[in-house]
Parts: sequence; structure tokens; C-alpha cells
Amino acid sequence: MSTLTQLVDDLKAGRLRVVDLTQPLGPETPVIGLPPIFAASPGVTISVISKYDDRGPAWYWNTLTFGEHTGTHFDAPVHWVTGKDLRDNSCDTIPARRFVGPACVIDVARDVDANPDFLLTPARIETWEAEHARIPPGAWVLLRTGWSRRRDASQFLNVASDGPHSPGFDASASKMLANDRDVLGVGVETIGTDAGQAATFDPPFPNHSIMHGAGKFGLASLCNLDQLPPTGAVVIAAPLKIVGGSGSPLRVIAITP
Ligand code: MN
Repeated sequence: MSTLTQLVDDLKAGRLRVVDLTQPLGPETPVIGLPPIFAASPGVTISVISKYDDRGPAWYWNTLTFGEHTGTHFDAPVHWVTGKDLRDNSCDTIPARRFVGPACVIDVARDVDANPDFLLTPARIETWEAEHARIPPGAWVLLRTGWSRRRDASQFLNVASDGPHSPGFDASASKMLANDRDVLGVGVETIGTDAGQAATFDPPFPNHSIMHGAGKFGLASLCNLDQLPPTGAVVIAAPLKIVGGSGSPLRVIAITP
């Protein structure tokens, strides 16, 4: 029996499950805030072209307006200045093979409950690897923080007078994952792949800077990571084929035992 026949049979029998790691995309979707000196991304607008009416009696369709980095979305290497000159760095040129990979899920939800500014460190990655396995090349590393439990936009963004507070990666962890583990990219439950306070880090937004400079990807605003095992799931995360696109909302699915 071929691998794909086995896959279809296992899905049908429920031995494998499809888990949706995607948040709904709509007018309520929170958008990242930046310091006011920078240009802002708009929220989501969905406007009806026709809905079985005079404008189109038998059909319904909408016009969508949103930034590329809205809701559950993909970050391409061209998103960051460090990745701007790499080959195959935009949504339309990345080989589709690179959208599929095994998931390594690192659970730090308890740490984040105690400290919303929690940063993943190399030591923590090594602890995870000692328990599970070394992160293989070409993996999606998913940071399970529990942040997607925050349904309210103000709790999700968690902005204080000194800026947003949400978990992320220490620069040394991003370097380890990008360079030593050769991951496809990292996925997070928060609004972006850097910590809330990362504008103040050196370099600013280190995870974006390091990952995209190494040709790696990002996945933001994931959910349902608590339904995945630490290893053993496969994640498919394919952005829209936007010409020159720096990212796109997408449907992220995991196939899991
Ligand atoms: Mn993004």
C-alpha cells in the first residue's frame, strides 16, 4: 500500500485527524499596532459585490480589504529587509514543497501564564529536545503559549503604556532554530512572531530579522496548538500566491494522529 493510500485510509478511519490551526478572518480580527511614526495596516473589510440581488441575481461574492499580515498569516522572507535579496523569497516564488513539514510543538503555556513577556531560549529548546527528539531539518517549530485563549482583542494585543506585552523568542533561540536546526520557520499564537516588546530589543524584532534573513518563514495567530502532540503531526501552511507578496492570510492545517 502506498503512503498516500494509507493516508486516505487513516483519515477515513479516524486514525489521523485534520486540525485547523486557523483563526476566523473578519472585521473583528485584531491588527498589530506599531509606533505611530510607522505606517499602519488596515483592519479587515468585507463588502458585498452582489448577494442574489439586482447586482447579481444568482450569485454572492465579496470584495476583501486587508493587509497581507492580518489574522492567521504567513510571513515570507521578503517581509524583512534582511531577506529582501534572497532567492525565492516571496509568496509566489517559494517552492510549494517548503509549505509542508513536520511540526515540533514546544509547550510554554505555563511560563507564559506567569510571565506574558516570556522568551524562548536555546536552553529551553534543548530541554524539549532531550525529552522528545532533536528538531529535524525542515520542521515547523510551533510555540504553544496558550495566547489564543485570549478571545478579547485588548487581551490578545495586551498593550500597556510601555507597549504590547506578549511572548516570543530570544534572539539566540531564533539563531539556533534558523541556522543550527534549519527549520522551515516558526509559528506562534500571538499577533506576530516577535515578542510584544521586541521593538525595544537589539536588533529590533530579532525573530523577524534572523528568520527571514536566513530564508525562513513565520506563521502568526495560530490556534488549537493544544490539539497537537509535541511531535508526530504534519503541518501544511501555503500562502496565497500573491505576486511579490510579503505574506498572506492562509488556512493552516495539521494532520495528526
Ligand atoms: Mn507578519
